[in-house]
Amino acid sequence: MKLDIPPYILDLPAYVPGKPIEEVEREYGIHGSVKLASNENPLGPSPRALAAVQAALSKSHRYPDAGGYELVRKLAEKLGVPAESIVLGNGSDDIIAMLGIALLRPGDAVAIPRPSFQMYEIMVRSSGAHPVWVPLKDFATDVDGMAAAANNGVRMVFITNPHNPTGTVLSRQSFESFLKAIPADVVVVLDEAYIEFVRSADCPQSLSYLNADRPVVGLRTFSKAYGLAGLRIGYGLMPPALAQVLNRVRQPFNVNNLAMTAARAALDDADFLKRTLDLVHEGIDRLSRQLEDRGLSCQPSQANFLIVELGPDAPDMVTRLLKRGVIVRGLTSYGYPGHIRVSVGLPRENEKFMQALDGVLAEFRNGKGRF
Ligand code: PMP
Repeated sequence: MKLDIPPYILDLPAYVPGKPIEEVEREYGIHGSVKLASNENPLGPSPRALAAVQAALSKSHRYPDAGGYELVRKLAEKLGVPAESIVLGNGSDDIIAMLGIALLRPGDAVAIPRPSFQMYEIMVRSSGAHPVWVPLKDFATDVDGMAAAANNGVRMVFITNPHNPTGTVLSRQSFESFLKAIPADVVVVLDEAYIEFVRSADCPQSLSYLNADRPVVGLRTFSKAYGLAGLRIGYGLMPPALAQVLNRVRQPFNVNNLAMTAARAALDDADFLKRTLDLVHEGIDRLSRQLEDRGLSCQPSQANFLIVELGPDAPDMVTRLLKRGVIVRGLTSYGYPGHIRVSVGLPRENEKFMQALDGVLAEFRNGKGRF
């Protein structure tokens, strides 16, 4: 078979997902493991969302509402933005893909912090555009570096706030200075997948910039704080003129009925959100203290995960943690080979992580670390 594939598609890097628990257990012959690798909600889905999905299952023979009227209206009301500025996606990944289709041309440049969430690069390259990498500075977005790139001909910039995989946030002032310093036609994508977890009072939110004189796009998801990662639903917040453009490239039924039903119910479940935030905040504080007690350095995190420095043996330690039934994310592919990222779980899952880590650290101390 002769396939004529554009070279930029052939060269696409493959996304490396966190492995499903079942796969890891098969591979290592273990069971009862805990997955702290994909920043999911350890409480599961909101019970109200689950009940709503069960009730909606019987309508599965119908196409979903292509405009997502009910959910968009609810979000607009909750966030205090016009419904016309919301675009629903099959996860926020879907909005990232739409931005590429709608706005990028082959040869365009897009500024991306390095390291960051891998889908940005995949989207940019699949449009025939190329990334301009701006390395993080002290684990945080280098806004001056991003502004320099933005003034050097890029069409779009990505800022992840809080950042994945470091958990850092920008201050409002540094984001606003950045906005002022860049050309007015550069699209600023503010990925807020973890925004609900932020405790800093000085964190910019895309909501505040929808009326700015330049295109700011917020990306949000129900996958994290709302516990609906498996149903795939997220949304973009943007100036209505840009939303109209995205809606032209959006597949009409990109978000399924169960996902929209669950999202609506989850938005009404304030108790579940509060329990989630309390659990995550307590977990972050406790894990940080426990890691520091062991002399390990971890970045203060505004998200639902921590990045921990384990040193040059970190990749080996990740495998040893797996064998002990704890799945965390090694960060070699992110350019931090000496670090791991661990998502906050239930208290007993965090405890299992700490016990496994203690075991692995002891193996290394006893000289059994290296094969
Ligand atoms: N942005 C960031 C920074 C993420 O970490 C993730 C998920 N890991 C996403 C976007 C995509 O989330 P979704 O499940 O909504 O596609």
